[in-house]
Amino acid sequence: MEPEVIRDKDSMRKWSRAMRLQGKTIGLVPTMGYLHEGHLSLVRQSLTLTDVTVVSIYVNPGQFSSTEDLSTYPSDFSGDLTKLAAISGGKVVVFNPKNLYDYGGETKKINDGGGGGGRVLSCVEEGGLGHETWIRVERLEKGLCGKSRPVFFRGVATIVTKLFNIVEPDVAVFGKKDYQQWRIIQRMVRDLDFGIEIVGSDIAREKDGLAMSSRNVRLSDEERQRALSISRSLAMAKASVAEGKTSCAELKDMIIKQLVGSAGRVDYVEIVDQETLEGVEEIKSGVVICVAAWFGTVRLIDNIEIDVSL
Ligand code: AMP
Repeated sequence: MEPEVIRDKDSMRKWSRAMRLQGKTIGLVPTMGYLHEGHLSLVRQSLTLTDVTVVSIYVNPGQFSSTEDLSTYPSDFSGDLTKLAAISGGKVVVFNPKNLYDYGGETKKINDGGGGGGRVLSCVEEGGLGHETWIRVERLEKGLCGKSRPVFFRGVATIVTKLFNIVEPDVAVFGKKDYQQWRIIQRMVRDLDFGIEIVGSDIAREKDGLAMSSRNVRLSDEERQRALSISRSLAMAKASVAEGKTSCAELKDMIIKQLVGSAGRVDYVEIVDQETLEGVEEIKSGVVICVAAWFGTVRLIDNIEIDVSL
């Protein structure tokens, strides 16, 4: 049976509070839709941890800069419902709000001194929706994907906070595919005392190793083949560490060579501490190797955790 769809925030909050009164625990899986097996694995994990799970499907304009194309983000709402209907093991509802930045009344641009004052704007500000409160996780949001996408994590932390306040979940599940995002949400929840357990879920991959992503459909067959260099080079780097290689410069070099050899355009290859996300030169404790690279017009990210006790 297809899951119930809740379209507005007041009904969502009412539903959650009714569940709570029945003594049920609530899980939340935030997504932007166009669901694939990676998303579904998060939903299954949430269902093992809580009585009911809310899957939010909302393409968040607050995390897209005004130069990034929000309108071409892939969507297939009825397909998403069919996929969720096939999940067993507990009750799932879908929260699919129209616009979480519409507060009623007239939309108006916040006066920021004109023309954005050289600031990078999100689609929310560009659209003149009048929203002006943002959550920043100041240090963790700066590196990795934050370098090339300056409003991205501010938008993510803010929409996740809004969803937490609307859904009031006990547990929220995030994919380690977006490693920096997961760590940022964990830190935000700790720093701001949200009473919500944040769970990181393993990366779901295609049989050939490519990390599942809504963006993969935009790859041509040939680009998709070349993009396999990402997961392959990460696996090779992990094997090299197991064989005793600890120099991050050498490991990064090895990965970059493979990506460039497959005609990928590297955004970054970084080896960072798993919690602080600070760059590491020599592997002595747990690290994560993070990659962002373009194949054709598609920017892909992937990572691999390396746990070592030297
Ligand atoms: P998105 O719809 O891309 O914003 O992703 C929604 C959630 O699904 C995020 O927590 C992602 O990290 C997670 N996710 C996306 N792709 C994967 C994947 N291949 N494996 C595990 N989680 C994923």
